[in-house]
Amino acid sequence: MDNAPHIYAEIAARRAQLIALTQDLIRIPTLNPPGLHYRDICDYLAARLEPQGFAIHMVRAHGAPGDSEQFPRWNLIARREGAAPGDCVHFNSHHDVVEVGHGWTRDPFGGELADGRIYGRGSCDMKGGLAASIIACEAFVAACPDWRGAIEISATADEESGGFGGVAYLAEKGWFAPERVQHVIIPEPLHKDRICLGHRGVWWAEIETKGRIAHGSMPFLGDSAIRHMGAVLAEIEATLYPLLAGKTTAMPVIPEGARQSTLNINSIHGGQDELPEGYTGMPAACVADRCRIIIDRRFLIEEDLAEVKREVSALLERVKAERPTFSYEVRDMFEVQPSMTDREAPIVRTTAAAIERVLGREARYVVSPGTYDQKHIDRIGRLKNCIAYGPGVLDLAHQPDEWVGVDDMADSARVMALVLAELLAG
Ligand SMILES: [Zn+2]
Repeated sequence: MDNAPHIYAEIAARRAQLIALTQDLIRIPTLNPPGLHYRDICDYLAARLEPQGFAIHMVRAHGAPGDSEQFPRWNLIARREGAAPGDCVHFNSHHDVVEVGHGWTRDPFGGELADGRIYGRGSCDMKGGLAASIIACEAFVAACPDWRGAIEISATADEESGGFGGVAYLAEKGWFAPERVQHVIIPEPLHKDRICLGHRGVWWAEIETKGRIAHGSMPFLGDSAIRHMGAVLAEIEATLYPLLAGKTTAMPVIPEGARQSTLNINSIHGGQDELPEGYTGMPAACVADRCRIIIDRRFLIEEDLAEVKREVSALLERVKAERPTFSYEVRDMFEVQPSMTDREAPIVRTTAAAIERVLGREARYVVSPGTYDQKHIDRIGRLKNCIAYGPGVLDLAHQPDEWVGVDDMADSARVMALVLAELLAG
């Protein structure tokens, strides 16, 4: 039996609810950092889902980075069982939003509706996706009462700051174990016709060059850590950037500029630290005895993290060979392996077919230049059958006057509900 017309009708009947739900979520200002109103948004969602037969689990990530009595890291998992056993489809949305920033012409927490768009911080990234997934689940259950398996909806903390108090914590506690969840959709704003298969890898490290302090009028008596760092930067320009530009990938990363390895130098600090607040005098004349940079290296699925690190240590050794007094230290700060779900995975094939059915065009496959919570579901949860799919224009994320389109949310809710129909009522 073709469930689609019935599902479409149920979603159309919920259009006002879809708008109101998105507005309500935007009006709870879940700013991160520091992590405001996490419990409030979980309570709001629980009050909506519990009367519909969802079992509610509130999980606080005790001991996670940022968790405190003042700013507890609350997560919600809601699960509804079908009429018979079967697979579980899980929709995971982060409930935190980034700071407002400057340049807004609308109330960032007003949830204003104008010309088919809902405005506000987090509208696109990703409360619109969360609302669309909830409406999709409710419409599916109404249209296909004999479904089997389970549906889960989670709203999780801290994606914007690494996800350690959210999906990473839940994955460590077994919430994404393959025996309890089989399919995951993360409704991040990748656009309603695109399936995001994964993301590139990340390595953050601090490189410090060392020197010896001396009077600035007699620098020859010291050894400048800043000059050593200058030599490191020159070597990065001369050899590392050309090397990275030559590494291309089969990953369909968007934007296309990210379809190679990249390196950003996030910061540089050398010599005396910033002068204390309130001090109005001059700095002292000293040779810098240390200089630090933080590098952000994004790597491809074809690359190996150990090799990525070896490229940097080989570079530093080349500088050392030219500079007799040069010494350095490299400190690892953060690393994430690249992740890319197979195009033949059930969640990918099902979503692609649903996009084609709803939108009348073929799905496009993309990979994110930066990471998102899929990393934790893949590495910690060991669940590979996971994609990001949701409404919204990625470029609007974190921008002033962020918005999500109501039609886009409704279309992606139709896609998500058809995925449920195929996997749980097919
Ligand atoms: Zn997001």
